[in-house]
Amino acid sequence: MNHLELNETHDINLTSWVESANEKGCDYPIQNLPFAEFRRKNSNEAFRCGVAIGNKVLDLTAVLESHVFPVELNRALEACSEPTLNRFMGMGAETWSLLRLNLSRGLAMDSDLQGSLKGYLIDMQSVEYSLPCQIGDYTDFYTSLHHATNVGKLFRPDNPLLPNYKWIPIGYHGRSSSIKVSGHPVHRPVGQLKPPSQETPTLEPCKRLDYELEVGIYIGSGNEMGSSIALDEADQHVFGYCLFNDWSARDIQAWEYVPLGPFLGKSFASTISPWIVTSEALIPYRQSWSRDETDPQPLDYLESKQNREQGAVDIKLQVALQTQSMQQQGVEPVILSKSTFAYSYWTVAQMVTHHSVNGCNLQPGDFFGSGTQSGPGVEELGSLLELSEGGKKSIDLPGGESRTFLQDGDTVIMTGYCEKEGTARIGFGEAVGVVVP
Ligand code: CA
Repeated sequence: MNHLELNETHDINLTSWVESANEKGCDYPIQNLPFAEFRRKNSNEAFRCGVAIGNKVLDLTAVLESHVFPVELNRALEACSEPTLNRFMGMGAETWSLLRLNLSRGLAMDSDLQGSLKGYLIDMQSVEYSLPCQIGDYTDFYTSLHHATNVGKLFRPDNPLLPNYKWIPIGYHGRSSSIKVSGHPVHRPVGQLKPPSQETPTLEPCKRLDYELEVGIYIGSGNEMGSSIALDEADQHVFGYCLFNDWSARDIQAWEYVPLGPFLGKSFASTISPWIVTSEALIPYRQSWSRDETDPQPLDYLESKQNREQGAVDIKLQVALQTQSMQQQGVEPVILSKSTFAYSYWTVAQMVTHHSVNGCNLQPGDFFGSGTQSGPGVEELGSLLELSEGGKKSIDLPGGESRTFLQDGDTVIMTGYCEKEGTARIGFGEAVGVVVP
């Protein structure tokens, strides 16, 4: 099985008997089938895995108990009944794919299973989510050349890009305990600040609170410690993708980051969208990846024909802001920027391979942040640090307000989707966070 090949689950002509899934612009048509951990709102139910279809959630625990799927899927469905998806994620690409195929067939128009499955659908509006898995280690990459250059210019005007950038998918070890699912409030962090105007640092609430528009990547099956994952195998280890807001306290970061890198300026909060869009669902939106001929070409372990031909994924990303006063006046969130993951200087496969090249063992439920995905255009900047040029330029908002960095009461809304001619449009839902004092 070539895990990057299209199959019947991607067919643009597929429709579902769940009618809302067929509506134009719906994030969750039958070609998507993302996974999340959910329960009914305000209930004491256990969290368990569900699959999104239209405006419904299919409860996989109920599917298991009804025995409507082939028995060979029982192990997978049992793992999906658990409050974290780690065990299912560790089962590997063939198991994920077999479940997806059966879900696709069962939810397709005129399926024989309609009569049974329709009883296991729950209104999406009436559910709440937990983290989809126990996130083991969180690694934050820095794969947007545009972002790295923009930020580098602010910190080091003469030398924006360090010499390793074009050779190594740069990353650092982030904090997983503070990754929360969409809707969780974000407390403005307190930390040591030392602006240039001060001789010595003081402990204060962060004044330069920012978001980062990123893609989150979930590792499925891992590797043994001491072994590494070859580039052309790497995508098979990736369970799926989500939207990721990696909140940043720029003033805390500026003072603390030399010499060991980001720490408390980053570890206070990160927000994920609840649904994991699987690697398989994203196959139609893969595209060629290239490296500028004048740039250093990747070392052999990060280079392959497959990676060149299909390494990039065109996930369109957007960030919007709604201030408290906009919300009170009923003003819609304003879009601050739009970008795409296709700009990434490194592919996900290169990140996975580089991460494991030293023998580091990746595990089911490990998580990567892609790094802020800024594009080359001014309307494609993935953080306020870039949009405000380091706080020098204020951004006008509807209603006469303006921002350089986030204020208390601000809501940041990230959305994403994939769309390509001849394929279905699939969406990621949203990653929302409101800043509180
Ligand atoms: Ca980040």
